[in-house]
Amino acid sequence: MTCPARNILVTSLSFSKYSGEPKKILEDNGFTLIWNEKNRPLKEEEMLDLLVRVRPVFALVVGVDPVTERIMDAAPELKVIAKHGVGVDNIDLVAAHKRGIIVTNTPGANNQAVADLVWGLILSAARDIPKADYTTRRGRWDRFIGCEVWGKTIGIIGVGQIGLAVAKRARGFNMRILGYDPVPNLGAAMEIGIEYTSLENLLKESDIVSLHAPLNSETYHLIDEQKLRLMKNSAILVNTARGDLVDEEALYRALKNGWIKAAALDVFSREPLLDSPLVELENVILTPHIGAYTYEANYRMGVAAAKSIVQVFKGEKPDFEV
Ligand code: NAD
Repeated sequence: MTCPARNILVTSLSFSKYSGEPKKILEDNGFTLIWNEKNRPLKEEEMLDLLVRVRPVFALVVGVDPVTERIMDAAPELKVIAKHGVGVDNIDLVAAHKRGIIVTNTPGANNQAVADLVWGLILSAARDIPKADYTTRRGRWDRFIGCEVWGKTIGIIGVGQIGLAVAKRARGFNMRILGYDPVPNLGAAMEIGIEYTSLENLLKESDIVSLHAPLNSETYHLIDEQKLRLMKNSAILVNTARGDLVDEEALYRALKNGWIKAAALDVFSREPLLDSPLVELENVILTPHIGAYTYEANYRMGVAAAKSIVQVFKGEKPDFEV
């Protein structure tokens, strides 16, 4: 009888970082954890090197590191790729499927965390809070004039778990809520009061547009120059989903030339954000992909990822298979 591989390569930088519980679940089941020591997501070559050194690897726990066909070929004992998060755009799902590798993620674990951040960004952009803080600290008394959110129209693109959590909060601001999603959730629409509409109409009518669709070949540059030009000059665009949903060069022009009022971005085409012209603009708020960074979400994501691996190891169906 062959001994099953018991190594797990953890490349996600935040897995079990704020609670020992996820790590404990895996170690209690006899796994040895090998950690990414780079303090940033691994590049393909780096993960390949590591995989060859620590073979055999039963599972990967990944963040946004690319998991390609070459990586899967370098780990023939790999049975499960556990995404520590929701978006699986960094994983070659077709290659995994062909090799019988199970891919899991942690839906619902971080929707409240991301929705909270969205509202922090909306209010920050509407009232210029980051700039007000910056100037006040420097002894200035600049009275920034903002706009109210109460009673305005918010457009939510991608009305899934996070989009719904954002919509529920919008009710507290007495907002009209527009939604665009190719698979409308009519029950939620009734309960929360979301009006589904076309993407074009949503962009034309919304004072705030918030993106919550997954990144795939259909949503790449969903918001391009033509779509940005449909938006109101007074509109705020919030992106906490994936950077490549937006054509960043077109967004730069939109912000520079006043096609829209402001943007607030947690995600970027290339992360970390280096050498981007966006940093020169005053009407954009930038955060370093912190949507899921709350203690609560980190705990839930870690436990869900660890449990999925144990379930696969025991031959059970994981709770969240992609
Ligand atoms: P979800 O699967 O529950 O919801 C996604 C929704 O988008 C679904 O309702 C789907 O039908 C819809 N959709 C699919 N294609 C679309 C299209 N072309 N146009 C509009 N809508 C479309 O996922 P979720 O948990 O709500 O997460 C949404 C995204 O947020 C994830 O894919 C991930 O990329 C991102 N995310 C970011 C962070 C962060 O740290 N900033 C954290 C978690 C998730």
